[in-house]
Amino acid sequence: MLHVQRVVPSGLHSRLQCRRRTKEVHDLMFYFDPMYLVFAMPALVLALYAQWKVTSTYNRMSQVPSMIRLTGAEAARRLLDSNRLLTVNLEPTAGELTDHYDPSAKVLRLSPGVAQSTSIAALGIVAHEVGHAVQDATGYEMMRVRAALVPAANLGSTLGIWLFILGFALQITPLAWVGLFAFVAAFLFTVVTLPVELDASRRAMAMLTSNHLIASTEYGMAKSVLDAAALTYVAAVAQALSQLLYFGFMLMGGRRRD
Ligand SMILES: [Zn+2]
Repeated sequence: MLHVQRVVPSGLHSRLQCRRRTKEVHDLMFYFDPMYLVFAMPALVLALYAQWKVTSTYNRMSQVPSMIRLTGAEAARRLLDSNRLLTVNLEPTAGELTDHYDPSAKVLRLSPGVAQSTSIAALGIVAHEVGHAVQDATGYEMMRVRAALVPAANLGSTLGIWLFILGFALQITPLAWVGLFAFVAAFLFTVVTLPVELDASRRAMAMLTSNHLIASTEYGMAKSVLDAAALTYVAAVAQALSQLLYFGFMLMGGRRRD
């Protein structure tokens, strides 16, 4: 998926609405804990920069028409067919930069701004998504690892955080550690996502070239869109890591009052 990562760290703030929260839990809210800002700020700045970069690059490159003048949907169909993915269908999806390949439905969903556009940005994005379809069809190992991590990552980023907060607030240290280890799965998910995304973009540039969909003068422009998107995944790793380090810091006694 080629999308803009969330910038706010995992909604930790909004999840802490419990009125009976203790002082320690209160301290966990990053707006009130200067140490959280120390941990979170570098990754947050990187995430904001990545979001600005991907949006501005996409806006710029979506104004540049490609020489081949194929729409995103036409290019996607051509690339899927050239990879013998004849049964992978195209479907529309709402929103902007919501384009994604769905491995369970074997469907490539394109946003209107990409499907109907003849821009360089559209070519780069559809080729990236076809890259995911090829990963799926060829049993690309990291994609399988990533898919296997999804349930644990979901649990880790929700239940894990709650267990940590509860364990920390009630001073049941083992419970907090369980929460922290559960959150490790969420962190690993962001790590494994990185090679999957970079590989999809590498495949994208290769297939755009080999199928003569972009001229050599257009190569750098198409790549700039995918590189900007890759940065959002790097930022996601940094954000998950900073959260993990913060939790570790809290548990190792960094904020202990006793
Ligand atoms: Zn992707």
